[in-house]
Amino acid sequence: MSKKFYQLKRLQRIAALVSHKLLTPRDAAFFANHTGLTQERADQLVENQLTTFALPEGLARHLIVNGKTYQVPMVTEEPSVIAAASNGARLAALGGGFTASQPQRILTGQIILAQVTDVAALTAKITAQENDLLQIANAAHPSLQQRGGGARWLRLRQLSEHDLSVDLGVDVQQAMGANMLNTMLEAVAQQLQDRLAAPVLMSILSNYATASLVTVTGAIPVAGLASGQFTGAEVAQRIAAASRIAQLDPYRAVTHNKGIMNGVDAAVLAFGNDFRAIESGAHAYAARDGQYRGLSQWQVDAATLRGQLTLPLPVGFVGGATKLLPAVLPNQRLAAISSAEELMQVIAALGLAQNLAALKALVTTGIQQGHMALQAKSLAVTAGAQPDEVGPLVAALKHASTLDLETTKKLLAALRQTR
Ligand code: NDP
Repeated sequence: MSKKFYQLKRLQRIAALVSHKLLTPRDAAFFANHTGLTQERADQLVENQLTTFALPEGLARHLIVNGKTYQVPMVTEEPSVIAAASNGARLAALGGGFTASQPQRILTGQIILAQVTDVAALTAKITAQENDLLQIANAAHPSLQQRGGGARWLRLRQLSEHDLSVDLGVDVQQAMGANMLNTMLEAVAQQLQDRLAAPVLMSILSNYATASLVTVTGAIPVAGLASGQFTGAEVAQRIAAASRIAQLDPYRAVTHNKGIMNGVDAAVLAFGNDFRAIESGAHAYAARDGQYRGLSQWQVDAATLRGQLTLPLPVGFVGGATKLLPAVLPNQRLAAISSAEELMQVIAALGLAQNLAALKALVTTGIQQGHMALQAKSLAVTAGAQPDEVGPLVAALKHASTLDLETTKKLLAALRQTR
């Protein structure tokens, strides 16, 4: 029987992707030989640069979203995350995969007007100038309008008796849009200050991207969820119960959401996006009704487990670091993703797949069984195993009663004696 993808050696995996026409020979050569950023490129990216810092990249397999099957590059240092994502994708595929959509893709920014003397009067003046202000915003970054995007609306929110937020909604097309929007906001702010003597405190985009939400759903036949002593129906009920607890208890909800972000962040990084922007927006969204809750929810409906996740995901397909980090373009080609909208959908689906796999493990065997089996590799390396010792040491650890560093070191010493 031919080996499974995860059983292959690294270069064999790359060759397998080429033979399945998922990777071009040119990108295969890149993945085979890539060792990270050059020092020169790193120096162009940040200040006071000293060196580069590499992270592993792996592939989540066969994630079906809106009927298309994706191979999703993931960048993470945590063992078991990529395996779990592939496992969640496999379970979701039993029900035909995930369905994802995003009603709009607008980035919002704020001009904060602080200590306004007469809020009502200033609000009326700004509202009367809305069209002019939108034109000023567009003139500050004209190429966006030429691409079919640009400033769409201006709204005012009173934050306190004397504080106002002027919110600008911009269609940023294929970019994440932070820099573009900030340029537009500063131009509008200057106008507000010059023409209306508005007391501008600051202008910046909001990472609470509620106009860039993506929703993903999955429907899994419960029969496919059977595990150990539990029937599929029991596992489905237990997952639904775990989801309910994540709605009730912030202590559980944070960890529930960390599991989702294991997938989301790893893909956000692989596609050269700003994970801090996505993290901050996601957690704010989780607390949108005043209590922090699980971002996803699972329910059992007859013989189907139905899951749903909604996230603000203002990721970019161009701009930012996407052209500066050399692995991003090969990753876009490997995933066969060609727009920011598609990227939003795939990342959200990956988050829900990750969540499904984590919940299933938690409510059946517990997280440690699968996790520690993969953690054994990290333990072996930490204990000082050489590359040719890692395999036999991990095999020996499978039979150990305790999986800790001391045991690993003892087993490594024993292994060396037999060689
Ligand atoms: P860029 O400043 O790189 O702007 C996008 C670039 O993409 C522009 O140069 C634009 O060209 C080009 N482009 C090419 N094709 C398209 C297209 N189809 N649609 C849109 N743009 C296109 O990046 P962003 O404005 O997206 O800003 C993202 C960066 O900002 C990230 O690195 C982020 O970390 C950072 N940032 C984040 C903040 C936050 O989250 N709070 C705050 C400040 C910065 P052209 O110039 O011709 O329009």
